[in-house]
Amino acid sequence: MELIFEKSSPGRRAYSLPGLDVPEYKIPEVFQRKSIPNLPELSEPEVVRHFINLSVLNHHVDKDFYPLGSCTMKYNPKINEELARLPGFSQVHPLQSGDTVQGALKLMYELGDYLKKIVNLPAITLQPAAGAQGEFTAISIFKAYFKKKGEPRKYVLIPDSAHGTNPASVKFSGFKPITLPSDKNGVVDLKQLDELMTPEVAGLMLTNPNTLGLFEKNITRITELVHQRGGLVYLDGANLNALLGFVRAGDLGFDAVHFNLHKTFSTPHGGGGPGSGPVAVCDVLKDFLPIPVIEKDNKRYYLNYDIPNTIGKVQSFYGNFLVMVRAYVFLRMIGEKGLRAIAKSAVLNANYIIQSLKDDFYLPYDNYCMHEGVLSGKHLKAFGVKTLDIAKRLLDYGLHAPTIYFPLIVSEALMIEPTDSESIETLDRFIDAMKRIRKEAEENPEVLKNAPHSTPVRRLDEVRAIKELKVRWIK
Ligand SMILES: *Cc1c(COP(=O)(O)O)cnc(C)c1O
Repeated sequence: MELIFEKSSPGRRAYSLPGLDVPEYKIPEVFQRKSIPNLPELSEPEVVRHFINLSVLNHHVDKDFYPLGSCTMKYNPKINEELARLPGFSQVHPLQSGDTVQGALKLMYELGDYLKKIVNLPAITLQPAAGAQGEFTAISIFKAYFKKKGEPRKYVLIPDSAHGTNPASVKFSGFKPITLPSDKNGVVDLKQLDELMTPEVAGLMLTNPNTLGLFEKNITRITELVHQRGGLVYLDGANLNALLGFVRAGDLGFDAVHFNLHKTFSTPHGGGGPGSGPVAVCDVLKDFLPIPVIEKDNKRYYLNYDIPNTIGKVQSFYGNFLVMVRAYVFLRMIGEKGLRAIAKSAVLNANYIIQSLKDDFYLPYDNYCMHEGVLSGKHLKAFGVKTLDIAKRLLDYGLHAPTIYFPLIVSEALMIEPTDSESIETLDRFIDAMKRIRKEAEENPEVLKNAPHSTPVRRLDEVRAIKELKVRWIK
């Protein structure tokens, strides 16, 4: 597709302004441009068509199914967008005094309250701007907690199935990660945990359900063991979609948890879009939260900067406020009953897909899953077909690929998360495409190896695309 600059034609305009009816103001010489910027010149329909066409070149959740495991690419209700665009939300300035933004503070306070209830933990910060930053915030709080206690603990345990952000957050917070191996069922190995949880270890970072989509059935024994040794337990809450309204982190013994508002509570994400990763903590950690904390005094909402052992600020101002507005709207619309319905359909949809496909592909941990499941494409290697080829071929069927090659403990992994927002017809269409691809692998592997055939570009050199990023048009 041509760039908008290449479509440019000198003198063409997309606007029509009325004639000047006030005296012309002469901009002082120093502020005047020396040369005219090189902007594209097009008519209004050309501009509109250009961007409409551009918007459908890439796959996105408003275009079709997007079962990207661990990312919870669910539909984002348009009402969230509508309300986040209200001037009362979008035009407030973070430096306005509290008296003039009581509504915004109230929204953040109430959102925090809902989130605390969802996980049954007593305190929260909304400041982190992503899940990864939530992890960093919580593990930094762990660090400050042990420093205050005068315990120089150095390590944090992380299961081998964990998301890559976990070890990164541990490192950034001044600890060293230690890998905790999974057992043959794909969950935490209690014997290994018992051995590795020494007085030098600050605690455990756990994802539950884990990235295989499996619920850690021994979870209360796990948190008890870590607590007995003086450690803390963190829940990577990215998979909260499976638990909403049924299981609360606080009840399981977790000391801290992050939320991915952009995943679980439906705001657009991916492509580096804005996120929000609030962190809820237990009572003993609440005096370490980042400042400011939003509080309520009679009927007034205010920002409390007086937190005794605060780790400081982790994000400018209060975090990504407009993501919070979207999550708040979503929660208010869906209500308590709706939350449980989300978890139920997320789990049902995932099991429907995995059970329908497990004979065509390989299911390494043959168990019912939660909101996502992991298949392996390793048997297709016999036909010279890799999981990457399956992913690319799915694009020809108009579907986005699952997450591939993650978690690392499954070879040729296909991690499928259909989310709660898909109909059975859509799930069937995906299952049908996957079965056809399975057949193609046997009968015509070349069609997979050369896929995609229907997209504007074929296989991208992803490494080069990052290393030689061109974001500016140069003639
Ligand atoms: C998405 C995800 C994260 C990181 O969240 P971001 O908002 O992308 O930083 C962490 N852990 C798991 C399991 C995830 O799926």
